[in-house]
Amino acid sequence: MATWTTTRLLEWMEQYFTGKDVDSPRLTAEMLLSHVLNMKRIELYMHFEKPVPQDKLDTLRQMVKEVGEHKPVAYIVGYREFYSLRINVKPGCLIPRPETEMLVQHSIDLIRSKSITRVLDLCTGSGCIAAAIAHNCPEVELTASDISEKALETARENAENHSLKNITITKSDLFENIEGKFELIVSNPPYIKSSEIQRLDKNVAAHEPLEALNGGDDGLDVYRKIIKKLPDYLEKQGMVIFEIGFDQAEAVTKLLEEQAFIDVKSFKDTAGKWRMVTAVSPA
Ligand code: GLN
Repeated sequence: MATWTTTRLLEWMEQYFTGKDVDSPRLTAEMLLSHVLNMKRIELYMHFEKPVPQDKLDTLRQMVKEVGEHKPVAYIVGYREFYSLRINVKPGCLIPRPETEMLVQHSIDLIRSKSITRVLDLCTGSGCIAAAIAHNCPEVELTASDISEKALETARENAENHSLKNITITKSDLFENIEGKFELIVSNPPYIKSSEIQRLDKNVAAHEPLEALNGGDDGLDVYRKIIKKLPDYLEKQGMVIFEIGFDQAEAVTKLLEEQAFIDVKSFKDTAGKWRMVTAVSPA
């Protein structure tokens, strides 16, 4: 039998994943193989004709099987790249999405231009938003909270792995255990309508924590709860940045305006979908 070289393995996996209807089959194959060989993805191409050792093949075989069964790759390898940081994830905490990087970018710009120091990341999950902000803005004091102990374990791990001493991780049902006022509150709360959850992509619905996704009948339950309390936790002229679903810009804007927030703006993501709303609390 021909030797399993990097090239052959990638081609074989790509075909296998295509047959199993896995998203981005080539990228997935590269992610798995680079993980198993402990290399950067680009380095695979410098070892194109190298035979892959038997023990690595055994590890890979198990992972390929799981991917074929539509388990998310991030849970299989245990991490996902987010805002150029490796963010650990495990079942029980939502896998960071690239769209969410937009919230980080916006937060960092704001923190730098206004010299903001007190920031809260509500519903932090894996801690990806908090970690990315804290890493890029070492001067901020960040509080990251979530209701899920499982998510917080991961958030702690991520803060530690990246030596982020400026993050305080707090278990809290929204604002329940949060004290003080913040200059910036950023949040990617659960916002999928309950009736839509089962219609999500099969990897998501079967493997990711539904409590991180389910926003109630109209998907807006958590925004309602947060926005009602926001004025108590934001400084005058403090800013809130929310991730939203593609059809929620108008509704979330209305909720914010009803609470006297000003300068409410919606932003689209790179796919052209509404993804973020920002607002300022009155002076
Ligand atoms: N964007 C996520 C998804 O489509 C949902 C994230 C959320 O509910 N906050 O799966």
